[in-house]
Amino acid sequence: MTHLPAPTQLDGWTHIYSGKVRDLYTPADGSDATLLVVASNRVSAFDHVLEPPIPGKGALLTALSNWWFERIELPNHLVSDESTAPEVPAEVRDRAMLTRKLEMYPIECVVRGALTGSGFAEYQRTGAVCGIELPAGLSDGDLLDEPIYTPAYKAPLGEHDENITFERSVELVGLEIATALRDASLQIFTAARELAAARGVVLADTKFEFGRDRETGELVLADEVLTSDSSRYWDAAVYHDESLAAQDRLASFDKQIVRNWLSANWDKTGEPPVLPEEIVTQTYERYRELYVRLTGGEPPYAPVAV
Ligand code: ATP
Ligand code: MG
Repeated sequence: MTHLPAPTQLDGWTHIYSGKVRDLYTPADGSDATLLVVASNRVSAFDHVLEPPIPGKGALLTALSNWWFERIELPNHLVSDESTAPEVPAEVRDRAMLTRKLEMYPIECVVRGALTGSGFAEYQRTGAVCGIELPAGLSDGDLLDEPIYTPAYKAPLGEHDENITFERSVELVGLEIATALRDASLQIFTAARELAAARGVVLADTKFEFGRDRETGELVLADEVLTSDSSRYWDAAVYHDESLAAQDRLASFDKQIVRNWLSANWDKTGEPPVLPEEIVTQTYERYRELYVRLTGGEPPYAPVAV
């Protein structure tokens, strides 16, 4: 693991945590009703945060999350009344989400409409994913007849998330919540997949996170949603082009370019090399292309180096 850069100090906010990609802040006055989730321009691959960052990435993914939140008919964590919290500083406004601070459920709600990645690896070993038996003979990237819910336990800091069965999720959060998480995840995925398909994009799989409103107990959709960091999207025309090699058909709308370049230029020991300028530009372009495809518009902010 590489070390993260020191997080930006924000006026009126206290930094409380940084993941590989995002920085979290709560109001400096000690109130903890709100949480400021700031998407950085950092890009990670193979468990390393890479240099340099991708200018514009944080704003693009934040805009994409917001676009999806507007279209999902479930309560979400965005706070619309900004007077209830310290002002969001101008330097991070484009890539910040002001949210209700929730009690998060320790479950990554993964939905798969296709079998690939860690799901395909598990299927090859066991014939099932998270306890869900699948027909024999499926290949990497095959679409599933029905999307499946394959939760993961959100491991404490520094440990890897672990795929679990639905029954195990019931032990963790109780039957009522586990069922609500599954049903909401499948419902959002199904609607989102249809919308993406109409725009020539295959939504292969994604991960949602939910929390509980600490006052009302309401189930609330949180975190980022349906971004290229939390989801795997394929270009439908490429995916269905049988003349292409399997791996080319499954090139996702994310940092695949970074992964490919690293695989070719680094032996995965020690610190990864610095990304060349053209890889940075191509990666941004790939993220941007997805935004334009899905939303039909240009991203609201041009890239700025941070
Ligand atoms: P990784 O680097 O592997 O992504 P991570 O998931 O801990 O690690 P981030 O995704 O950057 O790092 O951090 C975002 C964190 O904020 C997650 O733990 C997520 O559960 C939490 N979170 C998101 N929305 C809310 C919210 N509304 N209230 C409380 N916590 C939230
Ligand atoms: Mg995360």
